[in-house]
Amino acid sequence: MDKIDLSIVVPLYNEEGNIDLLLEKVTAAANEIDGTYEVILVDDGSADKTWEQVQAASKTMPQLRGCRFSRNFGHQRALLAGLGLARGDAILSMDGDLQHPPELIPVLFDHWRNGFDVVATKRNDGEVAGFFKRLTSRLFYRLFSWLAGISMKAGASDFRLIDKRVRDELLKFRDVDLFIRGAVEWLGYKTVTVEFEAAERHAGQTKYSLKKMIKFASGAIVSFSVKPLKFSVWLGFLTSFAAFIELAYILWAYTQGITVPGWASMLGVTSLLFGILFILLGIIGSYITRLHVGAQGRPPFVIAEQVNDK
Ligand code: UDP
Ligand code: MG
Repeated sequence: MDKIDLSIVVPLYNEEGNIDLLLEKVTAAANEIDGTYEVILVDDGSADKTWEQVQAASKTMPQLRGCRFSRNFGHQRALLAGLGLARGDAILSMDGDLQHPPELIPVLFDHWRNGFDVVATKRNDGEVAGFFKRLTSRLFYRLFSWLAGISMKAGASDFRLIDKRVRDELLKFRDVDLFIRGAVEWLGYKTVTVEFEAAERHAGQTKYSLKKMIKFASGAIVSFSVKPLKFSVWLGFLTSFAAFIELAYILWAYTQGITVPGWASMLGVTSLLFGILFILLGIIGSYITRLHVGAQGRPPFVIAEQVNDK
């Protein structure tokens, strides 16, 4: 087997309209690098013709390897599978909808050749991403950075190149639903960041529903921070303190002969405290969920089929 310098990993979920152009552009860009390459397409259980297209392309393109999941397992797991299959000394990951410009492949590769272990990218959203996506992305990274103590900037994405050593470390993580962006940052290798202008998605629609975004964000926070659990303790102290003051007032009022009618305020305080209590239970619940899922130790994904897996 020949030595491979660069692996290009692309997760695909219902991207039938993008594969031809993607392969054309990726091939053109990868031919410019001073080295050999392979392209790894991971079909994350698509319901459209994505896999048929990968199979067809693999017949004429010897550098193309592909695998298909038995069902949809999610973007991060598809990426992880691709990273595991990659044989290159450097491994680049990018989206399959052409929002990550393939023209940058040689640029990222050169930074790696110049000694960087991680070549990260920062997306300048401009008007491409909608207002809602930009706002939620900015809020999420600010909250995540604060909670996890890992500095992450808005516009971070999974368009990045990492050295094989970084990949080997990533594969050691045992997180349930590893948040790869955070994990790369956490590892702390020598990093350079390249800015790029995000393009519009070429064909199809975003595969990140609001539900998937919320799951992604809360999973990232729970796996990289225990601060939410510690808030519970502080909130507990705070409410106990308030209760203590109230008790003192009631006793004082009693000595003054003031009868306390108090039904409305009782109800108010009770429902407030129950509200807080349920939120805290929910927070604890999300950590327990991860423990539970982690303890089951199920495989993070199932590969049903592969092509060109020499
Ligand atoms: N993707 C995937 N599995 C999923 C959702 C998305 O493999 O369950 C892929 C998708 O095909 C694309 C990349 O992940 O290559 C990013 O998804 P998308 O472009 O829909 O996200 P957005 O750019 O809207 O954040
Ligand atoms: Mg996209």
